[in-house]
Amino acid sequence: MLKQRIATAFDEPGCDVNRAKSETDRKRGCTSKSLTPGAAAGGCAFDGAKVALQPITDAAHIVHGPIACEGNSWDSRHALSSGPQIYRTGFTTDLSELDVIHGGEKRLYRAIRQVANTYRPAAIFVYVTCVPALIGDDVDAVCAAAEERLGLPVIPVNAPGFVGSKNLGNKLAGQVLLDRVVGTREPKRTTPTDINIIGDYNVAGELWQILPLLDRLGIRVLASITGDARYDEIASAHRARVNMVVCAQAMVSFARAMEERYDIPYFEGSFYGISETSTTLREIARLLVARGAPADLITRTEALIALEEAIAWKRIDPYRERLRGKRVLLYTGGVKSWSVVSALQDIGMTVIGTSVRKSTDGDKRRIDELMGEDAARFGQIPGGELYRMLAGGEADILMSGGRTQFVALKTKTPWLDINQERHHAYAGYEGMVALVRQIDATLHHPVWRQVRRPAPWDTAGARR
Ligand code: SF4
Repeated sequence: MLKQRIATAFDEPGCDVNRAKSETDRKRGCTSKSLTPGAAAGGCAFDGAKVALQPITDAAHIVHGPIACEGNSWDSRHALSSGPQIYRTGFTTDLSELDVIHGGEKRLYRAIRQVANTYRPAAIFVYVTCVPALIGDDVDAVCAAAEERLGLPVIPVNAPGFVGSKNLGNKLAGQVLLDRVVGTREPKRTTPTDINIIGDYNVAGELWQILPLLDRLGIRVLASITGDARYDEIASAHRARVNMVVCAQAMVSFARAMEERYDIPYFEGSFYGISETSTTLREIARLLVARGAPADLITRTEALIALEEAIAWKRIDPYRERLRGKRVLLYTGGVKSWSVVSALQDIGMTVIGTSVRKSTDGDKRRIDELMGEDAARFGQIPGGELYRMLAGGEADILMSGGRTQFVALKTKTPWLDINQERHHAYAGYEGMVALVRQIDATLHHPVWRQVRRPAPWDTAGARR
């Protein structure tokens, strides 16, 4: 059964990467190289499923497994909520050696019952980790029994870590939503301008930088899947008129399935960078009008774009002189690998290289257009090589995720976090201004002058 679900997740006609593969490679799945010990440190399938579903803020998320699995992924992102906080409580069955011998089903049922009675969540997601999958706990049956007796949705998420990568876990989470949640409730009302945003997890509050723009156009986000989401909204997401997919590789299967099942057209867009935000707003308006929204939506969208772009550039202007010519090494993935390039180039910075680790063919095409064929593109940069580049002064600033921060700090190079652990929101026009402000603050922080000075004990001899 799980094997079948994984095969389905790997066979995705809407995914550029998948389409470009040979038949044999497609069967091999999304993990391009053979796994090495410790590879799950990059995130296992359970971790991927959890980060994709945990932003459903009024649901409880119970990890059925040893406590370390929960610790591995708990609150690793700053996916913020505008209301309920139950999603941030770490529930786990904390399986021990005795449960491995006797089975963990009873323990799981008791955990579900306790969470349901104590917290009254809108729904409970139960994550299967490696241990219960290996000892053969029938999590589906426990969840079905609990759902019937407790009278709330109890949804098994069957993505134990050993089945594959974090990206696969994201996809399996999407399938769970499709199979068990979407289409199970009806919205109180619908409008011709209802959309779903898919693949945005409201990291650092980025969704909140977009909602006011859509609001001013009269566009309603029926469901955000899953940033700052409520269970009911996702359950009624099938009534939206258009789907916008933010994180293409992970959730495109979800959007394509919704197109097949509910006839909702989808497109892939990005809210990173000024021009990309404008392009995405235009596309939403165009598709909504094509599906019956008032035609003036397009002119209103153009007016909003002209106004917001002008305001954003005016706010960015004071930073241009301070940032012009500064060299950036961009080590991130997906849409950020090019949309941030375009934004940095717009303010006169020089991008010396960008990573294409998780980029789709479309992402790579955009990088070619922006940086030319000769610009440096990196896959995985070995730690030693990254150290050499930064210590040699090839870049003035490294923009990357948390895992590479210590290489930058060791070489006394300014470093800015732009991955999921970030604390600042960088979406839309507002986000772009925030990004420029953060780059400036990081680059010109006085600490760099201090740490680059020779240590007093190295110069003491010279003074004597
Ligand atoms: S689910 Fe498996 S791979 Fe993932 S953290 Fe738990 S034991 Fe490790």
